[in-house]
Amino acid sequence: NSVTRGVTKEIPAVSWNDIGGLKDLKKKLQQAVEWPIKHAASFDRLGISSVRGVLLHGPPGCSKTTLAKAAAHAAQASFFSLSGAELYSKYVGEGEALLRRTFQMARLASPSIIFFDEADVIAPKRTGPGGNSSGNATVGERLLSTLLTEMDGLELATGIIVLAATNRPNVIDAALLRPGRFDMVLYVPPPDVEGRYEILRIHTRQMPLGKDVDLWKIAERTELFTGADLEGLCREAGIAALREGLMTQLLACDIHFQAALRSLRPSLTQAVV
Ligand code: ATP
Repeated sequence: NSVTRGVTKEIPAVSWNDIGGLKDLKKKLQQAVEWPIKHAASFDRLGISSVRGVLLHGPPGCSKTTLAKAAAHAAQASFFSLSGAELYSKYVGEGEALLRRTFQMARLASPSIIFFDEADVIAPKRTGPGGNSSGNATVGERLLSTLLTEMDGLELATGIIVLAATNRPNVIDAALLRPGRFDMVLYVPPPDVEGRYEILRIHTRQMPLGKDVDLWKIAERTELFTGADLEGLCREAGIAALREGLMTQLLACDIHFQAALRSLRPSLTQAVV
């Protein structure tokens, strides 16, 4: 129907255990997002107000989206996702309408988490006190002011938390970082060796592994790999095993992981880490 069109709503299936590493970050999100929704009555009784918005920033492929989904899953909250780039590319006025509709749906389906990917696209720093020189608000400015209005309106609603993600936190408009808006800013770093080991374990959970596969060694050799890269590595190794094993037995062995390692390049550069 017209209210739900263009909006994805679901309670995601992914849980905290599906995310490798990031122990402290997961704990912070549990406290800031999961608890206030799950224990809303206790928060009320104690007079604790919850955060309205959390800004996640860090390199691509390092689980910002997955963290938001896991928070929704843990809180059993409806999950709505919006992308800055998608809103920006809509016809005049359609992006704002979709934004407002999403907040409206989130209220109806509360408790809800609204995930806002590529937030920097619609919330870049404004050009100055008067906006741009023509005096007309640009698409980005109109979207931003709609978002700010909706977030301010959340004060009256309970059980709705907005999580935004960006790879470029330095271009986010300061108005979004005021109290009552995105008052929590968390860096989602690339995985360290232990994180990489956990990610490899997660993405080989369903895969029969040969005895010679040493995931810790692979974790040590995959510096600069993101979580998404490691997922791709496991997939490649699985496919290599499949290619070879169709006639015999299906087992992902060390040679398959080595072949996958040779064929893939990490997404990160030293500068990010
Ligand atoms: P982008 O900025 O490109 O949107 P992102 O930071 O939101 O990226 P995700 O979309 O959450 O990253 O992750 C991409 C994929 O990589 C996911 O499918 C997820 O399975 C995998 N992945 C990333 N980090 C981890 C992790 N820590 N543990 C397990 N899987 C991970």
